Amino acid sequence: MRIILLGPPGVGKGTQAKILMKRFSIPQLSTGDILRTEIDTKTELGILAKSIMNEGKLVPDNVMLNMMEKRLQEDDTINGYILDGFPRTLPQAKGLEKILKILVQRLNGVIAIKADEGILVERLSNRRSCKKCNAITNLIFDPPRVEGKCNQCGGELFQRDDDKPEVILDRLEVYKKQTEPLINYYAELQLLKEVDGSGTINEITINILRELE
Ligand SMILES: [Zn+2]
Repeated sequence: MRIILLGPPGVGKGTQAKILMKRFSIPQLSTGDILRTEIDTKTELGILAKSIMNEGKLVPDNVMLNMMEKRLQEDDTINGYILDGFPRTLPQAKGLEKILKILVQRLNGVIAIKADEGILVERLSNRRSCKKCNAITNLIFDPPRVEGKCNQCGGELFQRDDDKPEVILDRLEVYKKQTEPLINYYAELQLLKEVDGSGTINEITINILRELE
């Protein structure tokens, strides 16, 4: 099962990715993790990426795509993979298409989880992080047993600046601008599967699995 997962902040993408990983025994691949591994193991690409980052520049698409091409051939991807946070731009999506052709791999679908802005804002503004263990929780879905305290470790909960209402709307706007071209691109390739993300975690999973049948 080879999936790309798209969705705005607050739609539950991370939660669904974890569920799909277990269900299909596939890894979740993110560019951040891939980049870190390449740098830590001092591969040729890793050394190149690090020197670019040291100059304060972003790792260019061609370097990222080369890393992706390597990663998509590793042993743990035998059953497939979930791409999370990649591709992020149209050139990356086109680059990925080329790689998949070379590797003779076909995507099962590009899942775009959607929900109304009102729902996303409500979910995100109820998100809290633990100062001690960094766990993220939600006052609606997983309310703390003791007010203001983390259910995992008892540490103090706080609201990240990113999850404050005035910042949330900006984040949603950025997502929309960035992702719209991708949505259109994958719709044209007939790979796009839009899923309603307004329900419970379980309902969203059912909707995704139905699209992947
Ligand atoms: Zn904690």
